[in-house]
Amino acid sequence: MVPPPLSPAPSAGPLNGSEDRVLDPLYAQVLRRNPGEAEFHQAVREVLESLGPVFARRPEFVDAKIIERICEPERQLIFRVPWVDDSGEIQVNRGFRVEFNSALGPFKGGLRFHPSVNVGIVKFLGFEQIFKNALTGMPIGGGKGGSDFDPKNRSDGEIMRFCQSFMTELYRHLGEYTDVPAGDIGVGQREIGYMFGQYKRITNRYESGVLTGKGLSWGGAQARTEATGYGCVLFTAEMLGTLGQDFDGQRVTVSGSGNVAVYAIEKAQQLGATVVTCSDSDGFVVDEKGIDVELLKQIKNVERGRVADYAERRGSAARFVPGAGVWQVPCDVALPCATQNELTETDALALVRGGVKAVGEGANMPTTPEALRVLQDAGVAFGPGKAANAGGVATSALEMQQNASRDSWTFEHTEDRLGEIMRHIHHTCHETAERYGQPGNYVAGANIAGFELVAEAMLAQGVI
Ligand code: NDP
Repeated sequence: MVPPPLSPAPSAGPLNGSEDRVLDPLYAQVLRRNPGEAEFHQAVREVLESLGPVFARRPEFVDAKIIERICEPERQLIFRVPWVDDSGEIQVNRGFRVEFNSALGPFKGGLRFHPSVNVGIVKFLGFEQIFKNALTGMPIGGGKGGSDFDPKNRSDGEIMRFCQSFMTELYRHLGEYTDVPAGDIGVGQREIGYMFGQYKRITNRYESGVLTGKGLSWGGAQARTEATGYGCVLFTAEMLGTLGQDFDGQRVTVSGSGNVAVYAIEKAQQLGATVVTCSDSDGFVVDEKGIDVELLKQIKNVERGRVADYAERRGSAARFVPGAGVWQVPCDVALPCATQNELTETDALALVRGGVKAVGEGANMPTTPEALRVLQDAGVAFGPGKAANAGGVATSALEMQQNASRDSWTFEHTEDRLGEIMRHIHHTCHETAERYGQPGNYVAGANIAGFELVAEAMLAQGVI
C-alpha cells in the first residue's frame, strides 16, 4: 500500500455544492477554530453533508446548537511522554486523549501509536467514534487517543517503558465510568497489557473495565480480537444480501495486514470467498489461490514480520509488489482495512472498471471523498467505517459488560451477539436512508442515525 499523504488538502467550498444557510456557517466555524486539522475537517464535512434533511425536519436540533456542541470535544488532553530507550537515551513523545462526547456513556475509543498521529488525526477518529458508538446501540460515548510513538523495530522492553510512561499521565483521566480506551493501529494486546498493569499499580484497583482488548485470562472477552474484521465482513454480507448475493465464490481484495485485515480475511474465507490480497506500508501481496491466513497470522502476530516475508514463504503461489496499493487488482468486493485516505479517486475508478459490487470500510475513513463519489455514482454498495467497523467497539462494550458482572462468555455466544449487532447496525442504516429518501445510501443512513441518537440524548441532558 502506498502511504497516504500526511495531510490532505482542507475541504473548502459549500458543503453540498450549493449554499446552505445552516450548515455552511457551521463548517466555516469548524475550519476557523481548528486550523491545520485536515483529517478532522474531512470527517466533519462528511457528516454535515448528510444532515441537511435532519435539520429541516428537526429544527430543535438547530436551536439547541447540537452540532456546534458535538464538533467541540468535551475535553482535549495533550501530554509529554518521556521514556528511556535500550541504549539509555531519553526519548520524548507526545500523548493525546480527546474525550469527545459522553451523552450516551463513558468516553470510549482506541489508542493509536503511529508516527503520523497528531491532534487532527485523533480528533477525526474521536469524532467518527461518537456516531459509530451510537450506532452499536450500546451505552458508550466517543473518544480517541494515542501518541506519535513509532513501535516499529522497538524491543519489548522499550514498548513496555513507553506504555508505562504513557499511562502514568493518562490514568488520572480514565475510569470504567469515565473513559475506557482500547487498541487501534500499533496498539494490540501486548500494549494493552502493559498499560493495564501500570494503571493497576498506580491506582491499586483491579478495575477490569477501564481498558478493553485485554487478554482472556485477565478480563478480556472472547472474539474481541476478531470482532472488527469479522464485523466488517458481516456488515458487507448484509449489503450483499440486499443485492441478492453473498460472499460465497466472491473474489475479495483486502488492504492492510494488521488486526482488522487479518480477521476480515479469515471471516470472508469462512463464508466461501477467495481473498487475493493483503498489504502493509512497503507494498502488497497477490495470492491467487487465496491468502493463507494461518501463515499470515504467524508472520504478523508471532514473528512481527512483513507481508513481503509472507510472499517469500508462500513460494510461487504469491507475489509481492513493492511500493503500490492493492486497488488495481480486480475484485467483486473490496475491504480497505489499513488506514485513512488509502483508497483514492484513481483507485476507485480502477475498482469500478474491475467490476466491484461492494466496498466495506474496515479502517476508519480509508476512502477519500472523491473516491466515495466515484463509487456511489457507479452504484457500488458502500459501507462506511462508522457502521462497517463498529463490531470492534461493540464487542469492547460486551467486554465491559462481562467485566461489570465478573462473567465471561463463550466465543460462540459472543460471536452470535456480534452477528446480531452488525445486522442491527445494517438495518438501522438501511432503514434510516430510506426514511430520508436516499435508499441504499449507507453513508447518509449511518450519519443521520448516529447523529439522531446522540442529539436526542444531548437535548434531554440540557446545555452541557
Ligand atoms: P494494526 O496496527 O494492527 O494494522 C495496521 C495496518 O495498516 C498495517 O498493515 C499497517 O502497515 C497499515 N498502516 C497503518 N498506517 C499506515 C500508513 N500511514 N501508511 C501505510 N500503511 C499503514 O491496526 P488495526 O488493524 O487495528 O487498524 C487498522 C484500521 O482499522 C485503522 O484505520 C483503525 O483505526 C481501524 N479500526 C481498528 C479497530 C480495532 O479494533 N483494532 C476498530 C475499528 C477501526 P505497516 O505495518 O507497514 O504500518
